[in-house]
Amino acid sequence: MEINLISDTITKPTHEMLQYMFNAEVGDDVYKQDPTVIALEAKVAAMFGMEAGLFFPSGTMANQTAIKLHTQPGEQLIADKYAHVYHYEGGGASFNSGVSCCLLDGNRGMITAEQVAGAINDPEFYHSPLTSLVCVENTTNKGGGACYELEDLKKIKEVCVANNLKFHLDGARIWNALIAKKQNPKAFGQLFDTISVCLSKGLGAPIGSVLLGDKATIHRALRIRKILGGGMRQVGYLAAAGIYALNHNLERLKEDHRRAKEIANVLEKASWVSSVEPVETNILIFSLAANCSDQVLIEKLKQKNISISSMGHGKLRIVTHLDYREVMHTYVLETLGKLTF
Ligand SMILES: *Cc1c(COP(=O)(O)O)cnc(C)c1O
Repeated sequence: MEINLISDTITKPTHEMLQYMFNAEVGDDVYKQDPTVIALEAKVAAMFGMEAGLFFPSGTMANQTAIKLHTQPGEQLIADKYAHVYHYEGGGASFNSGVSCCLLDGNRGMITAEQVAGAINDPEFYHSPLTSLVCVENTTNKGGGACYELEDLKKIKEVCVANNLKFHLDGARIWNALIAKKQNPKAFGQLFDTISVCLSKGLGAPIGSVLLGDKATIHRALRIRKILGGGMRQVGYLAAAGIYALNHNLERLKEDHRRAKEIANVLEKASWVSSVEPVETNILIFSLAANCSDQVLIEKLKQKNISISSMGHGKLRIVTHLDYREVMHTYVLETLGKLTF
């Protein structure tokens, strides 16, 4: 039994999902003639009460498209210091859109309206880059799966409106937030100019993201996606996996959250752990006691067929997911409980 807790992206499609994909009706999506892609885009847009959606091969491309939609070269976006759009998209914000990032020192990857207001450059002061976009992440990835309160996002939105800034949500794991906080996706749809969501994380599809926005914005996004090489042909087979995932794997995210909390409870009692960050969803970040090294722990667990990852700076990460089943969980709790240094 190999247990991989490195990421929720490692899941493999089930037989049922593959059957559903196999039966998809397809067409050439570059000509917008793939009925399954159109159905997925409409389904996700309707969930969030937004006008339109566009299917992407990756969350990175969906975010990069959003940045390009909302900025001009030389401008600046505001994000948390842990933001995926800054750290994990290959420098795409500068490469694709020619924008710089103003990074804020947020709390577990979350920023506040006050911080945003304080980071906006005076548009009359032509020495500084023009601030044009705010990106937030929900749940936060490097921030440990933390979820925003809707009230806090509304306050950031007000700052955006008052300062003529666009507002983008990197909602790669928005599904986890919706389940953990029992929030309505339509409340998010009302706040953001664009939202990107991933189907390939907790929902368990092999690939795929959707970018949401109003009709005119998503129409413009078609050209940017094409430029980035994201125009795909008979891709309904992959969109079908997303439809299947939304229909079957959304509610079960609460199991991932429960298991992450149970692992945290065991770690909190372990002598070799110095601290465990609060667990709200399926990501758990913890730090080791001074005399224990990341690499030693990772190796010890590897010998027991459990893989976890290091985030550097003495922090380790565990992510629960669809392919992490109860029998594995029982074994992991037992193994962590017994582990000594
Ligand atoms: C996974 C993820 C993405 C998209 O990453 P891809 O590797 O392109 O799938 C974007 N934002 C966040 C916060 C993520 O965790």
